[in-house]
Amino acid sequence: MALMGLYALGASLPALCAGWAGSIAPDALDRRLAGRAFFRQRAFNKLHRGASHWPGWWLLGWAASQAGLLGPLPDSMAGGFALGALSHTLLDLCTTRGIPLLPFGKKRASLRICATGSFAEYAILAMTIIVFWLAMGRNALLPQLQV
Ligand SMILES: [Zn+2]
Repeated sequence: MALMGLYALGASLPALCAGWAGSIAPDALDRRLAGRAFFRQRAFNKLHRGASHWPGWWLLGWAASQAGLLGPLPDSMAGGFALGALSHTLLDLCTTRGIPLLPFGKKRASLRICATGSFAEYAILAMTIIVFWLAMGRNALLPQLQV
């Protein structure tokens, strides 16, 4: 979903790649942190959708990328990464477990639209792709050939 948004915004290939990396970053961070524990899966389940899924980090990252401090290419990649991670947290907001309201608090926010891995989750993803495809024109998801 992040890639579709970045593509719609006319993002460069490096920004799209960074967006993909950002879209898996919150879960990858949780896996990395849990990897040090003796009972990794139990540690992951406890950590998952904690501080790494607080959208404020990723909004701050995106805002910092807009300041233009690093230069056009690094800023576009940092912005793509942050938007990818932000889209991940927004999709997790739709699940029953939700995301934290504050980075280290117990209170959570959830739209309770679907459970992770459920048919509804895949249906939402399919509808998002169809809406994007219709909004961008039917060739939006196909590679554009330049002659
Ligand atoms: Zn997640």
